[in-house]
Order: sequence, then structure tokens, then C-alpha cells
Amino acid sequence: MATDRRPLAACRRIVIKIGSALLVDRKSGLKKAWLDAMCEDIAALKAKGVEVLVVSSGAIAMGRTVLDLASGALKLEESQAAAAVGQIALARAWSESLSRHEIIAGQILLTLGDTEERRRYLNARATISQLMKLKAVPVINENDTVATTEIRYGDNDRLAARVATMVGADLLVLLSDIDGLYTAPPHLDPNAEFLDYVAAITPEIEAMAGGAASELSRGGMRTKIDAGKIATSAGCAMIIASGKVDHPLQAIIDGVRHSWFAPSAEPVTARKTWIAGQLLPAGRLTVDEGAERALHSGKSLLPAGVRKVDGEFSRGDTVAILSLAGREIARGLAGYDAQEARQIAGKKSAEISAILGYSGRAAMIHRDDMVMSVARNAKAGEKEKADA
Ligand code: GLU
Repeated sequence: MATDRRPLAACRRIVIKIGSALLVDRKSGLKKAWLDAMCEDIAALKAKGVEVLVVSSGAIAMGRTVLDLASGALKLEESQAAAAVGQIALARAWSESLSRHEIIAGQILLTLGDTEERRRYLNARATISQLMKLKAVPVINENDTVATTEIRYGDNDRLAARVATMVGADLLVLLSDIDGLYTAPPHLDPNAEFLDYVAAITPEIEAMAGGAASELSRGGMRTKIDAGKIATSAGCAMIIASGKVDHPLQAIIDGVRHSWFAPSAEPVTARKTWIAGQLLPAGRLTVDEGAERALHSGKSLLPAGVRKVDGEFSRGDTVAILSLAGREIARGLAGYDAQEARQIAGKKSAEISAILGYSGRAAMIHRDDMVMSVARNAKAGEKEKADA
């Protein structure tokens, strides 16, 4: 067993994400017995000194049951209305069930901007920290009543990972109807093998995630792996486990099988954690092989290595850095606006002032404003280690 794997009770702060299908039955609504058992597990962990945060899905599923909406895909305004009805019931259920253990619940509803914009991110983090200081359990969901198709997380896997990195959790537990990651989607491939331990999210691991999602929940394995990239790159371990049993946390403690994703060993600053977890980079810079090598050895991105600039971004916005093959290799805060970046792409740093009419920064993205993406090929990973 790998050494970074540790028992739940040995963690300091855990974020638990609960999928809709675990909490809500399409016909009968809330699965109260399951929720009560879950809250017993949470109370047991808290009694051992572990801080627990819950990211609970189920607002839309619950609302559509209460409103008796027909099955099948909902229109945006229907899901917004369903969330409005469902969230109030969901929050009450959590509050009541936790109060049986004298635990206070605090509801937090986040919109995409609350994690993407640095100022709002710090504000949301302060509220959550205050709740935890007061020993309450934050019960978090996306604010689906105002989320639109363009402006939403859409799945609570990535939202939970954002929350986990925001609060510096050491473990993220994704509970859903699948017990972990397989080499291929197990319902499609009888030879699919279960992966007990994932050391790093490589392109091979990413390829194993199918696209499947059920009617009740939006996330499939794809969004779980995306969540894993956000969490592990910020030093937070991740577990994917089945929640289809009563007392799912106790089941993990008792050794039920699950996939463990090891956290990246490199310490990351809070600012870099925020950069790495941005869901919607404002632009893309495609770089040549020389620049790619330079980035892997810890250098800044110079204008000379940039081949192509896509998107409209301002200085300070997050942009993705892509290899010539189109693979994301890093993210960082742009040192120039998109328009300026286009003018100086491919040019030597010494030429910048003649082109722009002022002497700008030497780097397109400074190394302090840049985070390498976790998903890199094994060779580049080895190279990076050798250079470190
Ligand atoms: N936020 C959605 C809800 O509460 C769930 C999103 C998901 O399934 O991941 O209904």
C-alpha cells in the first residue's frame, strides 16, 4: 500500500461530495434512512477531530420529484425552478439529520464566479472558514436557481474539488453509484479492471474515463477525473467510492474497495492553487517545443516561444498553455492583453518595446504566475524530476 494513503480519521479536513442518486429516489423523494446513516458517519468523524464539509447534490432531483415533473431532460428554466423547490427541502433535511448529533449545518450556494473571480473566491473562502471555526458543517451546492448554461459548473464533482482546494482540505471523497475508476467503463467492457491506487492523472488515466452520466446526476467519470486533477494538483488526495451502501464513510474505514488518487507531492501556494483550478481560462497560447521544454524545467514563458494566441483576454486573466499537439501543459496569468500578445508572439524579448511602443515585461507568463497541468506525459514528468 502506498504511503500517502491514510485513514479518514487521520485527515484534518475532508470534503465529501454526495451524488443526487444516493440522496433522492425519483419516485419517493428523499432517502432519509441513508441520509441519517451518512450523518452518523459524519458525526463519528467530527468526534475524532476531523473537520467535515459536505457538497450535496440533489436539489434538482428533489425538486422535480416534489413538482412531479415528467422524466427526461429538463429545460433550463425548469431545472432552475426545480432547484429552487428542491434546495430548500434538501437543506432542511441536512440540517435536521445533522442536528440529531448536535451538529449545526450552514448552507452555502455558490455560483461559478464565486470561485473564478479572485475577490469573490476569497470572500466565499472567508465565509466557509468562519462556519468551520464555529464548528458548523458547511452544506454546499451550486446555486442552480440562477445558474445558466454558460455560467455554471454543471456538475458537483468539479465544484467539490474547487471547494476542497479553496479550504485546503487534505481529502476529497466523491460518493456516487460507482465504486471507483476502472481501466474502461465496466458496464461496456467486461475486461475492465478496477484501479485501487492512482499515483498521478496521466493521459492514460484520463482516457479511461468514459462519458457516462445518469439521468439524475450530471457528472460521470469524466468530471470525476477533472475533479481529481484540480484536487491532486493542489496537494489534496481524492477517493472515489460507492455510496450505495448505508454508512458509506464507515464502509471506507472498514476497507471496502475504492480508488485512491494520490496528491501531488509538490507544495503549491494558495495563489497557484487558484490558478490551476480555474474552470474557464480566458484564452489559449500555443507554444513550440523549445518553450514546452523550458516550461517543464521551471522557466517562464517568453514571447519568442508562442506560436498562436486564441481568445480575448486582459492582462492578469488565466490562460491555458497548449503544446503544438493541442495538449494543455500549463496554466498561468497572462502578462499581456490578447491583442498585445498577438503582436509580440514569436518575437524576441528585446524587440518588444519597438513593437508595442513601451518596454513591457520580458515574459508572456512569469513562472511565479504559472502552474504545470498534472496531466502530462510520463516522459515530461521524468524530465521535470530530473531538472528539479
Ligand atoms: N447541483 C445539482 C443539484 O443539486 C447537481 C449537480 C450534479 O449532479 O453533479 O441538483
